[in-house]
Order: sequence, then C-alpha cells, then structure tokens
Amino acid sequence: MNAIAAEKSAATLTTLPTDDVRQLMWRFADRYDLHLLVQAARGVARGPVARLVAAGGRNSHEWTSAKAALLQHYDDSGITAASLDPEEGGFIAGPKNLALALIAFELAWVDAGAATGSLAGNLGLAPIHECGTPAQREKYVAGAAPLKPGETRRQVRAAFALTEPIPFVGVETGMLAGTVRVAAWPEGAEPTLQVDKRGRFITNMGFANVVTAAVDSDDPRIKGSCMVILEEGDPGIWDRGTPTKKLVHQLSSTNDPIFNLTVPAHRIVGGYTVKDGVIIPNFSHGEVIESVFRRTRVTVGLMTAAKLLSAVEPVILYQRRRFRGGEGAPGTPRFELGIQQKEDALHRLVDIWATGEASASLGFYAARLFDQLDPMEKEKNQWLADQHLTGRAAVKEMAKKQAKAMELVKLNSLPVGERELSDVAELESDLLVRYALLDSLANVFCPACKLWNTGHGANMMREAVSLMGGYGITEECPGFLGQKWMDAQLEATYEGPEAVQRLQLSITMTNELFLAQFRQWITEMRLLAAQRPGTGACTLASAMNLWLWTLTHVMHATDADGAKLFHKTRQGVTFPLADALCWLLAARQFLLDVAELEEQGPRHPAVAEGLDGLVSFFNDLAHVQSARTAGEISRITSELVFGYNRHPAWDETSCHACYRAAELSALEGLIPGMQDSARAFSDVAEDGEDHPHKAGPCVKFQGLEDFIHLRAKLDGCLTGCRLAKDRAADALTKVMTREALDYPQ
Ligand SMILES: Cc1cc2nc3c(=O)[nH]c(=O)nc-3n(C[C@H](O)[C@H](O)[C@H](O)COP(=O)(O)OP(=O)(O)OC[C@H]3O[C@@H](n4cnc5c(N)ncnc54)[C@H](O)[C@@H]3O)c2cc1C
Repeated sequence: MNAIAAEKSAATLTTLPTDDVRQLMWRFADRYDLHLLVQAARGVARGPVARLVAAGGRNSHEWTSAKAALLQHYDDSGITAASLDPEEGGFIAGPKNLALALIAFELAWVDAGAATGSLAGNLGLAPIHECGTPAQREKYVAGAAPLKPGETRRQVRAAFALTEPIPFVGVETGMLAGTVRVAAWPEGAEPTLQVDKRGRFITNMGFANVVTAAVDSDDPRIKGSCMVILEEGDPGIWDRGTPTKKLVHQLSSTNDPIFNLTVPAHRIVGGYTVKDGVIIPNFSHGEVIESVFRRTRVTVGLMTAAKLLSAVEPVILYQRRRFRGGEGAPGTPRFELGIQQKEDALHRLVDIWATGEASASLGFYAARLFDQLDPMEKEKNQWLADQHLTGRAAVKEMAKKQAKAMELVKLNSLPVGERELSDVAELESDLLVRYALLDSLANVFCPACKLWNTGHGANMMREAVSLMGGYGITEECPGFLGQKWMDAQLEATYEGPEAVQRLQLSITMTNELFLAQFRQWITEMRLLAAQRPGTGACTLASAMNLWLWTLTHVMHATDADGAKLFHKTRQGVTFPLADALCWLLAARQFLLDVAELEEQGPRHPAVAEGLDGLVSFFNDLAHVQSARTAGEISRITSELVFGYNRHPAWDETSCHACYRAAELSALEGLIPGMQDSARAFSDVAEDGEDHPHKAGPCVKFQGLEDFIHLRAKLDGCLTGCRLAKDRAADALTKVMTREALDYPQ
C-alpha cells in the first residue's frame, strides 16, 4: 500500500453527513429549487411540528386547532404547492416525485404524522392528477394552491377514500361496497349520480372539503367501477364520522366518514362516454388507484428511512453521556464514551445506521426513477393515442417493444468491442423501448422500497428504541424514537400493507426484462468489487447470483409431493423471494451512492474536506449491510431450495458429509487447505456403511451442486465484514456531534 492509500484508509468519520453530502449521494446537487425546498420543509419540521409534538400534541385523537395550524405552515413554506405544476399555482416544473420524497423525509425526521397530513392532500388529488380531465385538474388540483393575498376562494383540501368498513375493501381493493347509481337522467342533459360510500381510516377527513371515493356500479346504466369526486356542500349526507383512535401519526387526521350524495356525472374521475344508454367511465377504480399508488408508496418508504437516520445522533448523545457524573472525570473513557465503551451497543447502532442509509438510497433512487418515467409515460400514451392503439392492440405493441428492450439489454451485456453500436443507438432512440426498460424497474422498485423500508425499517426502529434504555419508551425520549417506532408500523400498513407489496413483487420480479437487467447488475457489481475491494460489492454480487439461481430453480422445481413451487397460491415461496430481492436492491443502491460520493466529492469544495474519512466509513457501513444481506439471502434461499424435500431418516449423517464435501470443495481456491478437508468429508460419505449413493452423488443433492457451490462461495465472500463493522463502530466513538438536537424535545 502506498503512503497516500494508507492515509486514506486510516481516515475516519469526523462529522455527521452534511446536506452537501446528501445532495451528491441522492443526486440533486444541481437542483437549487430542491435545496430550498429541503430547507423550508426542515424549518417546518424542526420548528412548529417539533414544538407541537414536544407540547403533547400527539396525545389526542381529535383534529385540534393546534394541529390544524400546521396546514398554514405547509402552505406558507411551499410544502402544499410543491405537488402542483406552475400553471396550477406550484413552483416546480416537471415531475415531482423526488421533491415530494424530500419533503416527506424532512417532515418524518421529526414526525411522520405531520408528513402524512401534508402528503394525504396530494393523495386525495392524485386520482385527478393522474387520470382526471383537464377541467377536473383545473378546478381541484389548481384549487389546492394556497390562497394569494386578496383571494377569497375556498382552498381545496382533499382526502382519498378507498378503504371501507369490514368486511369490505382493505387489502382486497376489489371488494367494493360503495355504490353509484343514476339519480336522474333528463332527456338530452347530463345525468346526476347517487353516491353511497362509507370509509374507514380516511386521512385528512377531519377537515377535507373534497374526497375522491372509489365506488362500484349498482345500476345497469353504469358500467363497472370508478372513482368519483365528492364535495362538501353536495346535496345529501356529508358526515365526517368519528376520529380513529390511532396509536400512531396523531398529527394527521383520520376518520371513518359516511357519504350519501348526489353529484353530476362529470365528477367521475377521468370522465365517461355513453354507449347504448350506458355510462362507461373512462377509468375503473382499479386503474386509477394503480397509477396513484405506484408513485405515492415511494414517499411512504422514505418516511421510515428518515426515522432510522434521525435516530443516530440522539443515540450517540445518549450513549456518551450515560456515565457522566459520579466518579467519572472528564478525559476518562467512562466519562467521554459512556455506553460507547461497550461493543454491542456500538455494533447495533452501526446496523441501524446502515439500514437507514440503504433504505434512503433505495427510496431516493425509486423517486428519481419515477421522475424519469413520468414524462416518458406521457409521451408513450400520446404516441399510442396518435397511432389509435388502445386495449389489446396497445398491449401487443408494448410487448413488441419489450422484446426490443430485451435485445438492447443483451447487446449492452456484450463486451464493448463486440457490440454493434449502430443497433444499440437505434434501439436506444426508441422512446417505447426506453420506457419498457424503466417501467420494468419501476414495477419492482416501488413495492420493494415500500416493503423493505417500512417493514424491516420498523424492526430496526425497535432496535434504536432499545439502545435508549427506559427512555426509549417514554414521551421524553430524545428524537421521539418511541413514537417513531410505532409510527413505522403504520407506514408498513397504509397504502397497502406488506402482503400487497409482496404480491406485486412476486409478479414483477419475474419479468424477463427486469431479470435481464438484474443479470447485468451482477456483472457490474463484480467490476465495482474489483475497483473497490473490501466494500461488500463482491459479497453482494455473490448474493445476487444466489438469489437469481434460486428463483430460476424454484420456478421449475416441485415439492416432495410433486406440486409446483412457484405459484401464486404458494406465498411461502414467492413472498420470501420478494423479501430477499428487496435486501439486495437496498444494499446495491447504498453501494452505488457511496461510489458516487467518492467520485463526485473531490469536485465539491464543501464536501472535499473530510471526504476520505466519510467515504471509508460509508464503505464500512455498506460492507456491513451487504454482509447482513448475504445472511438473509443464504437463509431464505437455503430454506426454499432444501425445505420442500422430505428428509429421509436413513442418510442423515452421511448426507451431511456429502453436503460438507460439496461446500468445502466449493470453498477450495477461496481458502487454502479446503480441498483436503473436502476430500476427508467425501471419504466419510463414501465409506458410510449403509450409504446408498456410493455409486454416485447423494440423491438429495443431485442438481443442487451449483447451489451448494454458490452458497459456499457467498460464505467465503464474508471475509472481512466483521472487521468493517469494528471499524465503523470505532468511528462512532470519535465522530463529532452537536451538543443537543436542533429541534425541541
Ligand atoms: C392511520 C391510517 C390511515 C389510513 N388512511 C387511509 C386513507 O387515507 N385512505 C384509504 O382509503 N385508506 C386508508 N387507510 C387504510 C389502509 O390503507 C388499510 O388499513 C390497509 O390497506 C390494509 O387494509 P385492512 O386494514 O383492511 O387490512 P386487511 O385487508 O384486513 O388485511 C390484514 C392483513 O391480512 C393479511 N392479508 C390480507 N390479504 C392478504 C393477501 N391477499 N395475501 C396475504 N396476506 C393477506 C396481511 O397480513 C394484512 O396486513 C389508513 C389506515 C390507517 C390505519
């Protein structure tokens, strides 16, 4: 190692990551509008929101005037208008997924109920934003803009009503009890509709004046389901219902409303046509909610990421001060480090921090992905419309583009010299090909981010709470960690709980186009590992390989009774594979963000100082996260590959020997001397008196040799991961923090 490299590797973390660092990692360094938005949202979060939480604002279910006052802060700071286009009263042109993700992140750093309260307004309007007619957009979306001085109009405050009282809509969004009927249809005039809808757990319902509600036809003159826009003041019943007795997110309003209203037919979201005397909505409720949730779920995932990262500083402060006083004197380890003298406390904090980084990297990547996809989707829809392609014809055309996109991935997988560059250029110039590629990723990344960030994030928030001892489960806990732990469970539940995300992933992760790109990523990860040894990239590439092998295997394998393993009814197979994929994607995004920071950092004066130490710390965190991911992948894949075979009693010992032999021979080359051990185990296996496979390999492992090999290789790839954890833990004892958090407690 030369002197400079040695100095670099010895450098360690000096301060917590700054905004400049985050802008590089999450790729918005050139977006000054977003820098300002982050500052504005942070001002609200760490000012009025934090003051309200500290004053006990979460201790009531009701929508109080103190909570309602936050709406004005959202309006004044630009949070409300951030979701609007400039012509609707907003200030950000173009896609806004990253902008909204950053707002959610900032607000949830302090309180996710506040984040939810602000975002639920967008959710209420999202059906109109995504599928509404121009007139609907103009009236309702633009109507949500905060009032300018002198304006007297009623500002739209929206809510989204899908979920219904049990036994109707929940996870199963098709079981609609809400109905729509024709109330009157005068000759030659617009029909009026009778809408009957009861909601359960509807956010913003304590104050919303516009509701987008999912309903099904209860009338032969209306075809299928749709979403309708309801307004406070429409004739009939507008009952906000009782507030939900939530244990979480109390700064948002949640009620079980009842509506029985008469509305004009042009309130059907996206409009309708009339054919043979039947109203045909342009969009079913299913189509509307699919395009809505596809985007909004990413922001939810980022709320939990913010919580984990927000826990780092309060935990460090708590740990260091824990033993001050008494006999300890300044300068002694007991006084300066407190609980940080204990390895386990440090290691657990490393795990929390690594999870927070990985989930933020995953979430912000997903948000950026949708920012890229949104304009392409509009162009694609326009192109299809121009070609008069709808329904099956449109699907057929997109299937052709998907095949071309596969060609492009294959071409790009060839070594540079072997690629036909003109073919690559031609395929890349096709908008629909590019759309197909991105779409296959978005269909995976959105549910992955919602599932992993919130589900695993909630588990890790419990870890954070435990590091604060008894304080963790009190209202006084610095950083409000106890509340954040509970809040995380709601993020894992609303907008579709984990089962919904796993269901979606089990379909989208098997899309050949996604898998082709995933294969490419494995090669890229190996290259990254070669350039950046000791960062966990090699571990991750091996784990990705093992997952891919297992998916391919179970898609064709049967269980001990001959039943197919990969089937939609076998959630015991498909769901764990979906979970495993999320671990991989999160660790990968984190590694890529650290690589970006290392590459871009030196060009940014505000980041350059202390960069080596920060990068080497992040490399260690990424290594820790990759190793933890490898463990999950090993566990899940082994259970699936071996777990559906019946275990015969007769070969327990000798087959174990076979397994060890295969495993150890797989390790040969990685660790010297393994070959001899492998031979020794093979001998045991072959010498076994009653062992029936003397003539060949054990029947149990036939066809699985590759798996055993890949798994053993993955084990070997863990080399150094605990050293990385030790280094990261040590850095936590040295990093500078503030004297106190920058928001009230
Ligand atoms: C505070 C709060 C705010 C909310 N805000 C809104 C809102 O603004 N608008 C709105 O429309 N809704 C809202 N919701 C509702 C929320 O989206 C639903 O609670 C959620 O989608 C789950 O529905 P459910 O509670 O009926 O669960 P269920 O459908 O009863 O499911 C319960 C559990 O059963 C299992 N399960 C169910 N189906 C399957 C399956 N197919 N496969 C495997 N497992 C399954 C899962 O473990 C699942 O978590 C809110 C909820 C809360 C708590």
